[in-house]
Amino acid sequence: MMKTWTIGALALALGLCAPAFAASGSQGIPADEALQLLKDGNARFVSGQSTHSRRDADRRAETVKGGQHPFATIVGCSDSREPLEIIFDQGIGDIFVIRVAGNVAGPDELASVEYGVGHLNTPVLLVLGHTSCGAVTAAVQNAKVHGNLPFLINQIKPAVAKAKAWNPAASGEELLGKSIKANVWQTMENMFRKSVEVREFVEKGKLLVIGAIYDLDSGQVNWLGAHPEQAKLLAATPKAHAPVKTKRAPAPASAPTPAPQDAKDQGPMIDLAPPAQPAAAAPAHP
Ligand SMILES: [Zn+2]
Repeated sequence: MMKTWTIGALALALGLCAPAFAASGSQGIPADEALQLLKDGNARFVSGQSTHSRRDADRRAETVKGGQHPFATIVGCSDSREPLEIIFDQGIGDIFVIRVAGNVAGPDELASVEYGVGHLNTPVLLVLGHTSCGAVTAAVQNAKVHGNLPFLINQIKPAVAKAKAWNPAASGEELLGKSIKANVWQTMENMFRKSVEVREFVEKGKLLVIGAIYDLDSGQVNWLGAHPEQAKLLAATPKAHAPVKTKRAPAPASAPTPAPQDAKDQGPMIDLAPPAQPAAAAPAHP
């Protein structure tokens, strides 16, 4: 029998309703400290010195009683070789994770990001690509993919086009690497372009949005820094969404199914110059 879920019940089931008491853990720390926690955790992982802490019954009880207070929202690829809690050596309730093939930012991913940023108030938002990404590889090779995969791969193709334009002589592994990086920039761009919350939190200095690429072989996270055109993107995008209509006349039964929102809501892509020298180190505190 199909169970009918109310929004509240669904939110509870997903762990999305944090009690309004007992703030604990890392909530409230500044962005640079939150970023350092990720860097330190990855350094422990790379050196084989992971602590595997905060993964026990006590931590489960603490986060059930006190709610979740993660210090970072992370969008990463679904690739099974990129398990985020492990590569950053974090425990239960420490990071708010959105994993999707190709670390893209469609409507569902953006909504989850806004939950992490706007409701859980994480001071850091990280977009993490990785080497040898199959989804980006499919986009680079214009591979014939099955089922619903074309919808996802098509979201990556504009990044591949930019990588080619920025690096006309690149091919093979080099082009894949450039495309993986361009795809990280593109996901960050989509967040600035399509999320009022992300933009406002950055403008108010409450949020650091940063990109990085995980090396499957070494385990190292290579930090790209802030989006090289962040200021331009913030200036170019509207400050608020158009008002949402809450009432509408019911469509006739014979009405055609509307196109998916994302297919017609892409808007013009902002032309970004290739980042001349992407910052090797983490950006300054916003
Ligand atoms: Zn991947």
